[in-house]
Amino acid sequence: IKPPLYIITPTYRRPEQLAELTRLGYTLKHVANLLWLVIEDANRTSEMVIQTLNRIGVPYEYFLAPMPEEYKSKKAKPRGVSNRNRGLSWLRENATEGVFYFADDDNTYDISIFEQMRYTKKVSMWPVGLVTKYGVSSPIVKNGKIVGFYDGWLGGRKYPVDMAGFAVSVRFLHERPKAKMPFKAGYEEDGFLKSLAPFENAEIELLANNCTEILTWHTQTKKNNAAEKLNMTKYGDTNLV
Ligand code: UDP
Ligand code: MN
Repeated sequence: IKPPLYIITPTYRRPEQLAELTRLGYTLKHVANLLWLVIEDANRTSEMVIQTLNRIGVPYEYFLAPMPEEYKSKKAKPRGVSNRNRGLSWLRENATEGVFYFADDDNTYDISIFEQMRYTKKVSMWPVGLVTKYGVSSPIVKNGKIVGFYDGWLGGRKYPVDMAGFAVSVRFLHERPKAKMPFKAGYEEDGFLKSLAPFENAEIELLANNCTEILTWHTQTKKNNAAEKLNMTKYGDTNLV
């Protein structure tokens, strides 16, 4: 039996939400022994999200984790941070083995990356496509060893990587009881990975054929302005604020 995979997906209410969850969900449906932790940035559960998750049929847990009010007015919001930290606290309470991965609802994932990340001992990494003007964010690998990071925005980060570009073992998380993601826009990945210290770059497991293949993409869905203007109750969601 394969080690379990825990996929932590932040989501939030907007016209594209159910489309994003549907596309991601049917990708995850191809992956064995997976639990999908869908965590919504909201104060109320959404009947529409629950119906969508049930229709897809991937084993899931659904929680709420609203962004704290103090960050909502900021220009650069720490998007999905309270959601991901809620996922981590669920893992601390409920998971003993396997691997977890932060999969935003709008990205694109080749299912082969899930089978590769499933055996992560500590932290694994791989390239992510369609990030910044460079078009790719990736560990730089020479002779099979990590020698640095390639990313269009370094920002003084120790780990200039994208959220879609790494996975962590549950045991490793348990060994780091304080690890969490900071509410710091642009520094979410870096802050979380630093909170997993100590580990050496040499311990990072390099997937996607030594980081030569792109199997995850930071796609972004174009906003549908017409749908935005409509009152979303027209789509049957009576569970409004
Ligand atoms: N997200 C959220 N609350 C928000 C904005 C975003 O929970 O107010 C979620 C979103 O569903 C996604 C993740 O956080 O899974 C990252 O957000 P987004 O894709 O908008 O960020 P970007 O791709 O621009 O970095
Ligand atoms: Mn995104």
